[in-house]
Amino acid sequence: MKQTEENLLALLRPEVQAMNAYRVPESLGLIKLDAMENPYAWPDKMKQEWLQLMSEAEPNRYPDPAAKQLVSQLRTSFGVDSALGLVLGNGSDELIQLVLMALCEGSVVMAPTPTFVMYQHVAHSLGLVFTGVPLQNDFSLDVTSMLKVIERDRPAVIFLAYPNNPTANLFSEQDVVQIIEAAPGLVIVDEAYQPFAKKSFLEAVIKYPQLLVMRTVSKLGLAGLRLGYLVGTKSMTDQLEKIRLPYNINIFTQLTARFAFDHSEVLQQQAEQLCEQREQMLKRLADLKGLSVFPSDANFILFSLVSAKAAQIFAALKEAGVLVKNMTGVEGLPAQCLRVTVGTESQNKLFMDALENILKS
Ligand SMILES: *Cc1c(COP(=O)(O)O)cnc(C)c1O
Repeated sequence: MKQTEENLLALLRPEVQAMNAYRVPESLGLIKLDAMENPYAWPDKMKQEWLQLMSEAEPNRYPDPAAKQLVSQLRTSFGVDSALGLVLGNGSDELIQLVLMALCEGSVVMAPTPTFVMYQHVAHSLGLVFTGVPLQNDFSLDVTSMLKVIERDRPAVIFLAYPNNPTANLFSEQDVVQIIEAAPGLVIVDEAYQPFAKKSFLEAVIKYPQLLVMRTVSKLGLAGLRLGYLVGTKSMTDQLEKIRLPYNINIFTQLTARFAFDHSEVLQQQAEQLCEQREQMLKRLADLKGLSVFPSDANFILFSLVSAKAAQIFAALKEAGVLVKNMTGVEGLPAQCLRVTVGTESQNKLFMDALENILKS
């Protein structure tokens, strides 16, 4: 049969064809403050040890499909109760996909918005319904509206990013508990920024069977590894394990993550440095005329411009060698917002000097 490209595309679900691809901008030669990466390298000695370890890896062999050693190290490092289950993902992005893939057809996925775009992106890719409930103006949860939508839509999964991206704040603990207790389905508390926040729901997982806590090592300093984990009841994680692809965590990731957790004090210290840097940036940005800065419990800062256009400031910063994230068009944020990742002291200074100059001119 003679095929045309068009009739082949017609094989794909219309939702997929209607989606926009997740775009990552070119960052070559720029100071990269757009993606919440850890800016620090490892100490030389640690790097040498790691290279040695890598040279002993066997790329001709499949990795351990269950990544047993890594799982046991994660459990110890993060104090995961032995009664609970833990699933590994190729980044927490894959865990989002894994959970949503397991849902019944027609399920509703709910989250406060704006939030991490992958919840909606993955829901749509799988033909699920996504319902966003706007945050309040101070970026706190609108619990009343959420409870109404919960009642109306009976969401199978509610995502709560804690701290939230792109707003950088932690929601009130009581509000989150209220949502967990009202939920007719699962609640996934996404703690991607946990290394920079003082709070966590990990210890509540044992109390609420509907609660899953998701973490990633990406923001901690291992974004290149692609490793996330999800903690929940064993009955739920056992089901998710069935659809997890057997070798989703490659040998280099397994070895490197274990090595990094053996040196967790290095990562921990880097996170502390970033928290200190964040506080200094928040102070200086608050003093700058022409912008208003929002509180942050994460390794990034959201700010809005009073009279300038975000697109122009974004372009001028890029011209000055700094890549941040332009949030123009993100529903639920003030119209002219930029998001900047906390970098090293010198990167942050460069960014803030440039920003100050641009706003003055
Ligand atoms: C960055 C981010 C993730 C993605 O983490 P990966 O493990 O790199 O896939 C998940 N959730 C939130 C809220 C994020 O900001």
